[in-house]
Amino acid sequence: MDLAGLPKIELHLHLDCSLSFEVVKRLDPAISFEEYRNSFVAPVNCLDLSEYIKRAIPAIQLMQSEEALEAVTLDLFEQLARDSILYAEIRFAPLEHTREGLSVEEVVRSVERAVQRGIRETGIEVRVILCTLRHYNARQSLQTVELVEQFRTGLVVGFDIAADEAGYPIDAHLAAFQYAQRHGIPCTAHAGEACGADSVWETLEHFHPQRIGHGVRSVEDPALVEHLARRQIHLEVCPTSNLQTKVFRQMCDHSIGR
Ligand SMILES: [Zn+2]
Repeated sequence: MDLAGLPKIELHLHLDCSLSFEVVKRLDPAISFEEYRNSFVAPVNCLDLSEYIKRAIPAIQLMQSEEALEAVTLDLFEQLARDSILYAEIRFAPLEHTREGLSVEEVVRSVERAVQRGIRETGIEVRVILCTLRHYNARQSLQTVELVEQFRTGLVVGFDIAADEAGYPIDAHLAAFQYAQRHGIPCTAHAGEACGADSVWETLEHFHPQRIGHGVRSVEDPALVEHLARRQIHLEVCPTSNLQTKVFRQMCDHSIGR
């Protein structure tokens, strides 16, 4: 079957994990393909989620100017077009892109500008989700959700919490998700990936998301699966990522078929 040719919707797509060799080479002409593959592409066999996430570090380092953010976003449009994507929501953490002097508003505006151009040039509908990160403090998390509110009249449509759920309590993010609820901002939250069903319960109870990023370990608790179905909580499932990060050893172990 020609999977690339099938029309698709992509709801879980990290901008900083999607740089092609072509765009990296344009931003850093000295890099070789070997170096790109080793530092930007997660190996098939990662030790765990944290090793996988490390691949975003050099990408974020490159994405510190308006030009780079626009180039990376437009590069992603080319990849979406090759994959016959009709609609995508791309996500990133704007606070990570202010290391060389951009303001958070300039960061979001740059991506938004590129998305507008990408939509015009490819006809693919794309919207943007802004992410807080598990290890952020309350101020950073709140600043991120306030940016969502500020840019909601444009192409920003939601708020997410990403990065490694293991080891970081939810406390720092309660105020941000309460803000989202008060303002009717649609939310998704990474959970039930590195941690089990308890993490999904905790996320639902305190963050009230309409979608869960991954959530594949929800099957560990049948009551949770029933709750997700009853409340129509959408799970954004990424099976290949789950194999790479060792949530499941092999595809036949994956919870998607259960
Ligand atoms: Zn993710």
